Amino acid sequence: MSAPSATGRTVPNRERVTTIADDGSRIFLHPADVSGLFTRWRTVFGWFLIALFFALPWIEIAGHPAIFLDLAERRFHIFGITFAAQDVPLMFFVLVGIGITGFLITSLWGRLWCGWSCPHTVFLEHVFRRIERWIDGDAAARRKLDAADWTPEKITKRVVKWGIFAIISLILFYGVLAYFVSIPGLYQLITHAPWENWPTFVFMVVATLIVFFNFTWFREQLCLVICPYGRLQSALQDDDTLLIGYDARRGEPRGKVGTPGAGDCVSCNRCVQVCPTGIDIRQGFQIECVGCANCIDACDAVMTKLGRPKGLIRYDSLNGLNGGKRRLLRPRIGIYAAVILILGSVAGYAFSRVEPAHIVIQRMGGAPYFVDDSGVRNQFLVRFVNKTSEPMMIGINDEKLPAGMSLVVSERGFEIPPLAEIQIPMVFVAEKSSFPRQAKLPVDFYAEAGMKVAIISRRFDFVGPRYKLKTATSQNGT
Ligand code: SF4
Ligand code: SF4
Repeated sequence: MSAPSATGRTVPNRERVTTIADDGSRIFLHPADVSGLFTRWRTVFGWFLIALFFALPWIEIAGHPAIFLDLAERRFHIFGITFAAQDVPLMFFVLVGIGITGFLITSLWGRLWCGWSCPHTVFLEHVFRRIERWIDGDAAARRKLDAADWTPEKITKRVVKWGIFAIISLILFYGVLAYFVSIPGLYQLITHAPWENWPTFVFMVVATLIVFFNFTWFREQLCLVICPYGRLQSALQDDDTLLIGYDARRGEPRGKVGTPGAGDCVSCNRCVQVCPTGIDIRQGFQIECVGCANCIDACDAVMTKLGRPKGLIRYDSLNGLNGGKRRLLRPRIGIYAAVILILGSVAGYAFSRVEPAHIVIQRMGGAPYFVDDSGVRNQFLVRFVNKTSEPMMIGINDEKLPAGMSLVVSERGFEIPPLAEIQIPMVFVAEKSSFPRQAKLPVDFYAEAGMKVAIISRRFDFVGPRYKLKTATSQNGT
């Protein structure tokens, strides 16, 4: 069953998402304007995040942008540390750590992320809705304009608004792209004609259209039907999690000012009108609540006007709203914190052992070994990858090879340019007398890399015949 709300919209029944009408059509929301303490702080914080988002690719640390995910070169520069593709397994700890930290934050403070930091919320509330208000007017004017016929005024407003939205969507897409191609790369893409790089141009157009569609029409639907984080809420929160909730003990029974026996809620519906997902927080905690705190500011303004204490809607736990005490430390908080500590320690240890160069020893094709008068020979192609942004000296150290084994190589010291790689053929030779007649001999190969001389070792199998070697014969392993 549905009922008309104070806003004139048809409010669907509670078993359905609030933005779906009885006939299944979309109810397009126009949240009313609100001001207050939380709105002010959210705006300041939102603009700080927007500035940070656009600034990071411009800030240089150790010769690279603060964050540069260089997919083309398979190098990832993150706040001065460069990771090569070979270091990606280390990111497992980082990603799992971020995930568990998200669990911890959600258990403690509910959807703080959604309301204050999520890029979707930040850009929708602080950029797109602001422009919409500026062009179309307040919520009532916007609803009226939506319902109006296509008059010249409506067409002009729509063209201007969608034009500005399209430009901002493009800028937003460029902002994301800068993290993957860097600012000079982005400049190149922008200044080259589309036909010089069709695939990139098509990708750019499609991505911009998706951003435009999201912020122009889809909006809160992303939070309600797509974002998996919202669906996880009930599993991560408990009665002590800090939420935005309505104090029913104080507010009920609702009634107009002066109604005998009525609680503090005067049924003005301001909390519903300002809600960006269209829900009524008085119906209890709902997963559609993105924790934006608009309803707190709206209700506080009403209470202030009526000379009643603020906080009828407030940040509190379910226990707190029911008159109990909120516990900060609970078993789940301890478990999440312990897992984060363990992951952090493992990650710290793993990162401290990240080598400046990567070495891969690859056996050359053909026979695995040769035997001639000089002994048993194994041929390899050794790949050295300089993972740093500086030229790197590599010195090959053959002093630790097993007794009777020598190395034939064209050069024992060479320089690798920044972020480049060099492949050197090497032949390891074991004297017949010292070869232990076993199919495999594990050998440690050492190299010294960089100015600070990092010793890097790799183990490989030196192979040879199992049978007793004769002298002055030539045979191979095929
Ligand atoms: S804004 Fe406050 S007083 Fe008004 S309906 Fe909501 S809870 Fe009640
Ligand atoms: S219920 Fe309140 S906090 Fe939740 S989304 Fe609506 S206005 Fe924001």
